[in-house]
Amino acid sequence: MNHYDIDLFVIGGGSGGVRAARTAAGLGVRVALAENRHLGGTCVNLGCVPKKLFVYASHFREDFLAAKGFGWFINQPQFDWPRLLAQKNHEIERLRGIYQDLLNDSGVMLLEDRAHLLDAHTVRAGERQFRCERILIATGGCPFIPDIPGKEHAVTSDEMFALDRLPKRILIVGGGYIAAEFAGIMHGLGVETTICHRGDKLLKGFDEDVRTFAAREMCKKGIAIRFNTQIDAIEKTGNGFAAHTDQGHRLESGLILYATGRTPNISGFGLEAVGVEQDDAGAIKVDEHYQTNIPSIYALGDVTHRFNLTPVATAEAMALVYGLYTDKPAPVDYDNIPTAVFSQPPVGMVGLTEAEAKNRYPDIDIYQSVFTPMKHTLSGLDEKTLMKMIVRRSTDRVLGVHMVGTDAGEIIQGMAVAIRAGATKAVFDSTIGIHPTAAEEFVTMRKAEL
Ligand code: NDP
Repeated sequence: MNHYDIDLFVIGGGSGGVRAARTAAGLGVRVALAENRHLGGTCVNLGCVPKKLFVYASHFREDFLAAKGFGWFINQPQFDWPRLLAQKNHEIERLRGIYQDLLNDSGVMLLEDRAHLLDAHTVRAGERQFRCERILIATGGCPFIPDIPGKEHAVTSDEMFALDRLPKRILIVGGGYIAAEFAGIMHGLGVETTICHRGDKLLKGFDEDVRTFAAREMCKKGIAIRFNTQIDAIEKTGNGFAAHTDQGHRLESGLILYATGRTPNISGFGLEAVGVEQDDAGAIKVDEHYQTNIPSIYALGDVTHRFNLTPVATAEAMALVYGLYTDKPAPVDYDNIPTAVFSQPPVGMVGLTEAEAKNRYPDIDIYQSVFTPMKHTLSGLDEKTLMKMIVRRSTDRVLGVHMVGTDAGEIIQGMAVAIRAGATKAVFDSTIGIHPTAAEEFVTMRKAEL
């Protein structure tokens, strides 16, 4: 027994913090976790989970339309936003309860207080003070709105999960994950939706063909996209808001959502006083063992602003805990992290984009296929799917797999296993397809593009 009250004090009860806390406690480590809001963090409360529920809800509109082509006639479906919110809140409550049970059952001391660092080994939470051998900062991130006149009139994704009512029209600023996902949700729920993006393509970091294709499919469904457009100011109008663009346009809408990135949550808990180093973006700097410049203080997940994805934060939590408290380290491999955007249609990718692959290697083959998914042969809807594979000719290794289309996230998850295992194109080609599926296209692509 050392002279500390706590072996590991975790600040933040999101995906990374909770995973670290309960894994460490399960190994017999004395753990406390402080969370002054809801357990589950962004993912459970204001991100992945409620977002995906909204995606399901919004997709019904198209499903009802498609149903006719299959012989179903549905009279005037009605959508009830308060009912969706209530259902969503009920599910989130259930998940928070599960998190709480997991922590309690593993013996973590749960403190429903804001934690404050007093020095490299001391944390105050509420009225109590703890001497801690190690401290883990897993405080996540929060939405960022650029500093423009009238920014107080804009909402962020946080507020989107608790709107009193849906607007008739929404303007979404940004061209990343959240902009693309909420555009699909709002449009599907019957809101006239415009995206305003400063760049000339959505979804930076994704393959160029994917970026173009996804935007085109979104536009075909009725989402308006204004590229190369910045918002200079926002004003309140009689019944909504007007955004003034750098092109001299005035865009009126009932709601303006800013989805212009997220920043690490680093203020209000004494970080500066202890001297934990941050980078220019405010992210806590860590080494490959998640250790900050203060040896007793660690950080992981969104507060380190590297791969802001829940499964990365949980993997980092396991790596940290196994590294510190066992002789079986479980380091995170940051290569080939699969990711999906739950836009409509969804986008998924794992591995290198075409541009990245061509930058690295001289001998790249591209396999690509655009087709009408079977469902839409009868649905009457005009939606196409894109599948793309990047292969290195000399080694036959598949370096990247990309998809825009129904179930892209589900399909790419499977592809990610193959890519991690080092699958070659020959392995894909010799894999028997499941017929009829969209995914079988990935094992039947025979001709590289010229
Ligand atoms: P992203 O980084 O994905 O996108 C931010 C967008 O805002 C970009 O298009 C960017 O433009 C634009 N932007 C940034 N600053 C400004 C500015 N000052 N003025 C105008 N536009 C600006 O951030 P999101 O907010 O969409 O999401 C945050 C992160 O959360 C994601 O990166 C992802 O890691 C995570 N996330 C993951 C999801 C998933 O896994 N499905 C879902 C939602 C979020 P440009 O492209 O030119 O830089």
